Amino acid sequence: MQDVPKKLKQYQTYIDGQWVDAQSGKSFQSSDPYTGEPWALIPECDARDVDRACEAAWRAFDSGPWPSMTQTARGKVLRKIAGLIEKHADHLARIEVQDNGKLISEMSAQLKYLPEWYYYYGGLADKITGTVVPVDKPDTFTYTLREPVGVCGMIIPWNSPLLLVGWKLAPALAAGCTVVIKPSEFTSASLLEFVKLVIEEAGLPKGVVNVVTGYGAVTGEPLVTHPKVAKVAFTGGSVTGARVASLAAQTFKKVSLELGGKSPNIVFDDCVMEDAVNGAISGIFAATGQTCVAGSRLLVQESIHDRFVEKLLATARTAKLGNPMSFDTQVGPVTTPAQYQKILSYIDIAKGEGAKCVLGGGPADSSVGGGKYFVQPTIFTGVENKMRIAQEEVFGPVLSVIKFKDEEDAIRIANDVIYGLGSGVWTQSVKRATVMARRIRAGTVWVNTYRAVSFTMPFGGYKSSGLGRENGQEAINEYLQTKSVWISTAANSGNPFIMKVAAPQ
Ligand code: NDP
Repeated sequence: MQDVPKKLKQYQTYIDGQWVDAQSGKSFQSSDPYTGEPWALIPECDARDVDRACEAAWRAFDSGPWPSMTQTARGKVLRKIAGLIEKHADHLARIEVQDNGKLISEMSAQLKYLPEWYYYYGGLADKITGTVVPVDKPDTFTYTLREPVGVCGMIIPWNSPLLLVGWKLAPALAAGCTVVIKPSEFTSASLLEFVKLVIEEAGLPKGVVNVVTGYGAVTGEPLVTHPKVAKVAFTGGSVTGARVASLAAQTFKKVSLELGGKSPNIVFDDCVMEDAVNGAISGIFAATGQTCVAGSRLLVQESIHDRFVEKLLATARTAKLGNPMSFDTQVGPVTTPAQYQKILSYIDIAKGEGAKCVLGGGPADSSVGGGKYFVQPTIFTGVENKMRIAQEEVFGPVLSVIKFKDEEDAIRIANDVIYGLGSGVWTQSVKRATVMARRIRAGTVWVNTYRAVSFTMPFGGYKSSGLGRENGQEAINEYLQTKSVWISTAANSGNPFIMKVAAPQ
């Protein structure tokens, strides 16, 4: 008997307030990482669709109801978006799990928390103010306006699609920008559902939010280079981030980049050991290690190293692999086949470098995981910081344990990497925590906790981990620019051949 092909859900994309197919008429498949089976068809947009979306976003920015709306009214729209996410959180979480294979427990929590970003920036929308400047010239009234930058291109990765959209979209809308969003080719469906259930229902004017689905080079690059785009907000890998930044520089766009990491999670001998073990585990095995802040370098003080590793292994061995849709699963599959291969190749690299594999170290038996693309939670000891496994981002459940002697040694190792995104410190000494927080070169330092984020706290990288900040009040600046207004109240305009540089004596 011939196989009947499974019915795939056909999506359209959203441009200028309308649901449309790609101009090419083509679609590509999106697969469930757990089963490896395709389940959805996504429009394959190219430069023509990007152009339509950017032109629509420009019209919506330049004229029509969005720019003439008061900031207070825009804030209300954001709060409406928040309420609608609350209503549809469970559905959206399930779509994300189906597309990226992350745990339903994690994605449900994320989607329930996500409305806070829209409430917070909704509240901030009518608190964006310029200042009256006491300028050094007589008969002059001077002030600044904080204005939206314009059309923002947003490029989103596959690991936490709607959360990372929210980190960009909420401040951008609060600032008065309009947007064109390109999701990852692996996880487009949740954004399309979000637009249908939330953005359309919230009643945003057409063209304010547009989506172009497709591949990085074919869809992402035309978005980055489009002349109507004033700002690019990107989250993803450092190699792609560098390309995006160099393309954006050609037309002098404002850019924010949230890139990778090789975050040190530092355990001192005065820690509460059970807490530090849990922090190390959640730092690397949560989200199957596919997070930019993964605590992938575990620095352990040599005086407790062996005891700590023993306890770490005892807990790590209990990790339950399985179907990400089950609430009791602790480690799910890797999201993409390419990422799966990348993780396995780094495990081989670590073995080749002489690191000692004390847990896992290969693909997980599908009878354990129940599906495709499972990697065993893996721990290497005896890692030296110069090894590739300690220097390069793996983005998977692979932990490198590195010994250190004292605070000075820990700082040296922690900072000896090109990245600077997250970091953890486990100690009961306030003095030590404060010194470490000051000396670690990273955008975030967690003390006696790990992987905490909030809409109120700025988030971003030092060094090669990125540019700019998301979250918190600071993030709104990424979507604003300053205009200086000079009003002369003088009786006459003075000598036209001389620039007004100094106050008359
Ligand atoms: P990328 O950085 O390549 O992808 C992130 C986003 O950029 C996706 O939407 C992607 O589209 C898009 N993109 C890709 N190429 C271009 C381009 N030339 N111009 C514009 N946009 C582009 O991540 P990968 O999925 O390839 O993962 C590679 C590595 O990046 C991972 O192994 C991990 O180390 C790191 N990473 C870091 C993340 C973070 O949160 N900081 C998130 C994801 C990955 P498309 O999906 O269609 O290629």
